[in-house]
Parts: sequence; structure tokens; C-alpha cells
Amino acid sequence: MAATLSTLAYLVAAVLFILALRGLSHPTTSRRGNLYGMVGMGIAIVATLLRPGMGGGGIGLIILALAIGGGAGAYIASRIQMTALPQLVAAFHSLVGLSAVFVAAAAFYAPESFGIGHAGEIHGGSLVEMSLGLAIGAITFSGSVIAFAKLQALMSGAPITFKGQHWLNLGLGILLLVLVIAFVASGSAALFWLIAILAFALGFLLIIPIGGADMPVVVSMLNSYSGWAAAGIGFTLSNLLLIVTGALVGASGAILSYIMCKGMNRSIINVLLGGFGTDAGGAAAAGGGGGGERAPVKAGSPEDAAYIMKNAQKIIVVPGYGMAVAQAQQVLREMGDLLKKEGAQVEYAIHPVAGRMPGHMNVLLAEANVPYEDVKELEEINPEFAEADVAFVIGANDVTNPAAKTDKSSPIYGMPILDVERAKTVFFIKRGMASGYAGVDNELFFRPNTMMLFGDAKKVTQEIVQALQRD
Ligand code: NAP
Repeated sequence: MAATLSTLAYLVAAVLFILALRGLSHPTTSRRGNLYGMVGMGIAIVATLLRPGMGGGGIGLIILALAIGGGAGAYIASRIQMTALPQLVAAFHSLVGLSAVFVAAAAFYAPESFGIGHAGEIHGGSLVEMSLGLAIGAITFSGSVIAFAKLQALMSGAPITFKGQHWLNLGLGILLLVLVIAFVASGSAALFWLIAILAFALGFLLIIPIGGADMPVVVSMLNSYSGWAAAGIGFTLSNLLLIVTGALVGASGAILSYIMCKGMNRSIINVLLGGFGTDAGGAAAAGGGGGGERAPVKAGSPEDAAYIMKNAQKIIVVPGYGMAVAQAQQVLREMGDLLKKEGAQVEYAIHPVAGRMPGHMNVLLAEANVPYEDVKELEEINPEFAEADVAFVIGANDVTNPAAKTDKSSPIYGMPILDVERAKTVFFIKRGMASGYAGVDNELFFRPNTMMLFGDAKKVTQEIVQALQRD
């Protein structure tokens, strides 16, 4: 009876997780989606605690682990800056990978507790699940640690490449497969640990050549791997819900990676092989404004911007990473409201990889209560720039850089961009002439229809709001 109830509860939790994913696909339903996810997880935890065979001591340990893990998670989540979320996600993925390694080791050394045989006589199927969970978990762990270190600037974000790198990775991948087969045939402890070491090394080697603009895709791919690792643990533990949830995370992470690759006009294989933009990135970054015969940069004041926008009919706001750093979303919405009152049409253009995580700009604009109908995706808004009086670029850079269309040597070549330069006037709010995430110069700063508004995004926008209110 208890077993049936627990299975039923798992089914309900699985359905809630699916509804959560569905809800999270749109800003209007995302809160509800989150709620479904939390309720589903609550049900899953209670159902696990009530499963038959769960001794009192086991429950005590689980509750202790939940309190420590949940407490640490709640503490970190409440303190984390929005801009540091990608590295936090990478760090969390590394823990999922590591736990898959631990579960595999536990199952290998105490098979009786898992009901998968006896020491030295583990069922063949269980050895397959165990070794796959171990390999994927170890790759996820070390890969995520490198992604974390790169995003947190603990190591250089530039691709680290060397000759024959892809062949080495391919060779190690094949060797890993051979070791898995040999381990399944022999059940040898030495092979178990060889698989772990090789997979840790492979995770490290796979991520070091990936740099710059490709990191978001990698974090999403690691998310997918962590899901598959969890599904692997689910098989080892014979836990249906873990299999379903792991597969959901694995599949949704893979789909998100695909969507992001499409957004950047890259093939997933190309991203995963890494090393993208190695030379070009350095050269372009080193170029840093010294391009020789460039027109001088035209700098304006917040008053100038207010005056021009007051007389504009159509304004397209392009938010980017700098808006997130400055936390300028609230005052940006105030500016939009004032301009709307003046009779202007104000829309917000979202690039799929603006900011530092998928949906970064959507979340910030939603937090500031910008109406959803004013927020437009790249394909939808791009044709509108030609009719816009003003493109108001606030803390965005790479996502507007036309080098992505023309310069084959640029590390962002091929990424679709927001065509801001087609607007009559383009404002760029940024603190100086620094490049963006990909480390490349943006020639738009030197165009005749561009006016730079130098300063912190929040401060400059506040001054524009004051100027709009004064007149
Ligand atoms: P970006 O190219 O990184 O440019 C952001 C600009 O904001 C910088 O040039 C910086 O210039 C300015 N800035 C920084 N702090 C500011 C402040 N307080 N006030 C005003 N300006 C400030 O950003 P983006 O156009 O949003 O492009 C995103 C980039 O990140 C892409 O290359 C993308 O591939 C990459 N990426 C995306 C994700 C994702 O999932 N969305 C994840 C990781 C990486 P100053 O220093 O001169 O002020």
C-alpha cells in the first residue's frame, strides 16, 4: 500500500515538474511554473521519506542533509547578485555531477544496500548504469568547475587551445568507452576509478577551449549533462522519479542549448568542439579603438537625449549586461512611461544572449513591471529599427555589433544582432569605450548617427528622467 501511494505521489510530482517547465516558458506564467516545481519537489521529498524500507535512522540523516543543503541553498540564493547567476548555476551543476560520482561509488562498494547484487557480483545492467552515471557525472563536475572559474574570472575567459586538442579529446572519449565496456565485463575496482579519473580529465579538457560568447551555451549543455547524470543515478537507485526528472532536465537543457545556438547562429557541434574565436578575439580585442582613421566619438548629455526623445515618435530600448550591473531597470521603466505620456511608442528589444544568462533581460524588465506586450524578441523587432527615431541602447554592446554580420575574423561572426544602426539616432549608455563580453570593438560608437551617453546606466537614465520631468 505504502509503495503504491509513493509511486502515485511520484507520478503527481513528475506531472507537476512538466507543468513547471511549461509555465517557465513565458514570463506571464513563470511564477506559477516555479510554484508547480516547488510543490512537485515537496511532494517528491515527502514521498521518498515515506517509502517502505526507509528506517528511522535514514530519515534522520536525510532531514539533516536537507537542512544543511537547503539552508546553504537558501542563504546563497538570497545573497546572489543577478549578474552572478550563470556561475552559480555552473557551481550547482558541478554538485549534481559530483553526487552522481558519489552514488556510483556507494553502489559499487555497497551493492546490497541498493539491491543490485553482492560485492564482486553486481548485476551486469547495474554496472552499465553505474559506469555511465559515473562518467557523465565526473565530466559534468570538472566541466562545470571550469565554467564556474571562467565566468567568475578566477581564470581567463579566453579559449585555451593547443595543437591536436580535438583529436586528443576524441581519443580520450573512445578510451572512456572502452574502459566502460571493460568495467561492465569485469566489475574491477581499478577500472571504476580509471573511468572516474579519465572522465574528470575529459570534462576539464572539453571546457577549457570554449571561451567568450559561447559560455552561455556551455552552461546550458552542462545543465543537460547534469540531468542525464541524475537520470543515471535514478537507474542505480531504482528511483522512477529521479529518472523522469533527470530526463526532463537533460532534454530541456539540450533544447535550450539548441535554441541558444540558433540565437547565435552557431552549430552545437561547432560550439562543443570549442576554441571558437581564439586568434580573432585577441586581435580584435587588442585593436581596442586604435583602428586608425575613425571618426571622433560624439558624446552627448542626458539633457540632449531627453530633448531628442521628447520629440521622437518611436523609441526602441535595447537593454544589455550593463543595465543589469547598474540595476537600471526600474528607472528605465519610469523613462519609458514618461515618454509614452508624451505620445511616443516605446518598445524593448531583447537579444537571446543579452546579459549573462538566458532570459536575463526579460527577468529584469518583468521585475520593473515593463508590460510584456512592449517586450519584443529579435526577429520581431529587427524590421522595426528602420522606422524608429531612437534606438536607446543601455549597457548593451556585443548584441548590437555589426561586425557579427561582416567580419569573418570576429569571434561573434554569425551571431544575429539587433539592427540598432538603422534607427535615426542611436544612444549608447556606457561608462567608457570598453568592449563587451566577447572583447571586440564596436564600430557603431563612431557612426555619425550615434551619440554616446557616458556614465553609469542608472545614473544617466535618472538624469534623463529628471530632464524629461523638468520640461
Ligand atoms: P556586453 O557586450 O557584455 O556589453 C555590456 C556593456 O555594458 C559593456 O561594454 C560595458 O561597457 C557596459 N557596462 C557595464 N557596466 C555598466 C554600467 N554600470 N553602466 C553602464 N554601462 C555598463 O553585453 P551584451 O550586449 O548584453 O551582450 C552579452 C554578451 O555576453 C554576449 O557576448 C553574450 O554572448 C555573452 N554572454 C551571454 C550570456 C547569456 O546567457 N545571456 C551568458 C554569458 C555570456 P563599459 O565598461 O564601457 O561601461
